[in-house]
Amino acid sequence: MSKMLDTLHNVFGLQEFRPHQEAIIRRVSESGDAFVLMPTGGGKSLCYQLPALLRDGTAIVVSPLISLMKDQVDALLANGVRAAMYNSSLAPDEARAVMSALRAGTLDLLYVAPERLMAPGFADLLGDLEIALIAIDEAHCVSQWGHDFRPEYAALGELQARFPGVPRIALTATADPQTRADIVNVLGLQQAEMFVTSFDRPNIRYTVLEKHQPKQQLARFLASREGQSGIVYCLSRKRVEEVAEHLRWKGYPAEAYHAGLAAPVRSAVQERFINDETGIVVATVAFGMGIDKPNVRFVVHYDLPRHLEGYYQETGRAGRDGLPSEALLLYGAQDAGTARYQIEQGGNEEQRRVEGHKLNAMVGFAESLSCRRRVLLGYLGEDLREDCGNCDICLDPPNRFDGTLAARKLLSCIYRVRQSFGMKHVVDVLRGADNEQVRRHGHDRLSTYGIGTEYSSAEWMSFLRQLIHQGYVRQDIAAYSVLRLTPEAGPVLKGDQDLELAEPRLKAKPARKRSRAAVELADDDLALFDTLRALRKRLADEAGVPPYVIF
Ligand code: ADP
Ligand code: MG
Repeated sequence: MSKMLDTLHNVFGLQEFRPHQEAIIRRVSESGDAFVLMPTGGGKSLCYQLPALLRDGTAIVVSPLISLMKDQVDALLANGVRAAMYNSSLAPDEARAVMSALRAGTLDLLYVAPERLMAPGFADLLGDLEIALIAIDEAHCVSQWGHDFRPEYAALGELQARFPGVPRIALTATADPQTRADIVNVLGLQQAEMFVTSFDRPNIRYTVLEKHQPKQQLARFLASREGQSGIVYCLSRKRVEEVAEHLRWKGYPAEAYHAGLAAPVRSAVQERFINDETGIVVATVAFGMGIDKPNVRFVVHYDLPRHLEGYYQETGRAGRDGLPSEALLLYGAQDAGTARYQIEQGGNEEQRRVEGHKLNAMVGFAESLSCRRRVLLGYLGEDLREDCGNCDICLDPPNRFDGTLAARKLLSCIYRVRQSFGMKHVVDVLRGADNEQVRRHGHDRLSTYGIGTEYSSAEWMSFLRQLIHQGYVRQDIAAYSVLRLTPEAGPVLKGDQDLELAEPRLKAKPARKRSRAAVELADDDLALFDTLRALRKRLADEAGVPPYVIF
């Protein structure tokens, strides 16, 4: 296999393989299928680029985005590899040139969009040529469960029938178990060897802050990070503009990026960020795919993301150089409420269900009182043996108490409702709630009904999440988030094992009751603010300066 090392050194200019790369490359080079789960920045591209050079014929690479294709093709050409892409961005004569190179067999790699590949004429042509391998990059796009579903990717299920004997390699950084199973099914990769690299990025410190005055919280965070490069993600374009403007006003080199900006503006922002001319990009999730900037020191989520896969991918843009980096999430329970509302308004029933459950997992992470990394990686299907020591929970642990009794109550209640209900119902039964759902199932007659009045619903919910994170309870996301006991729950239920729980801490402080007089005063304040704001705007307009210059 010295040809392999040779190519690594002489074509790609790299010293050594990273974990799994060598095994994957060998597998594909020897005509086997492979399924590669590797975090962003882990080095997935090499896993198909190198075998493409070792095998005869042209390797076909399916990729969802023109920008991703272009970056890779440029890099390959710079290394002297005969690579090209075939997509809608090409001028007619460029497209013709690519096609004739393909026919002549002078291409090592050809990048195509999935709909091109499966188009009848194109697939027929490929059928007559020698194909080295087919790589399906960003393979999570085949899954409805994935955060980036592309209907065109579904057609790739026919690849196996169309190109029998051609090795296929699917690659993704998204690895929650449902998405993973979906990819295998849709692409027919049952025979593929699985390569799962750890998704842990130990150099990223995860922190969640309760969101109360987000602009001040962000400013305080940035104050100690002057001169560093980072990304601030917001959910809406409007929020992006607002936050970017606020940061500039505070003197930070921040620029906005979202899909509402013209393409040249967007690529200029991206360029300045990569070249360290712009320190901070405030962006929607449109920003980042395909950006390979090693020294991003922090990623802030100003709003609650909709799912953990996206959150993980976005935070993973920090610290690719392996140096200490930060991921900060500003979590407002209100954001979760808004998100839930929006999900309930849109899509069909199945989408609402899927998105609702994904949001639950995201909220579970944000409200978790155990090691963040354990929760995050656990969701991605990876068990950390120990707490990470590099997240807010590990560094500043919440108060713990002997939670054996509380846990036993919860576990037995889950058992009593036959492991067929979700969190809210279980807590309702424990607290003795008198509602339709509880009565309809006769759960007001259970022995566990009403045995948990000593804690609030929010506290029980928190305890339940902790039991999930600690592995005593499993939330079956694919089946209406029903709670089930794991084998680990047995000893606790039988009284053979004690366990600790943490006092909830992210809960908002109870709102102080305001007297009528106080409310009126607040209204007066608001009126005064409005007057001042109008005055400021008028003075600014007259002077021809921005309002913040005035006072
Ligand atoms: P992914 O697709 O997994 O996000 P890429 O394939 O884009 O990651 O690779 C990320 C970076 O890692 C690239 O800059 C690539 O050159 C680099 N890289 C990949 N493999 C190696 C290796 N064996 N040694 C050093 N750098 C590598
Ligand atoms: Mg990649």
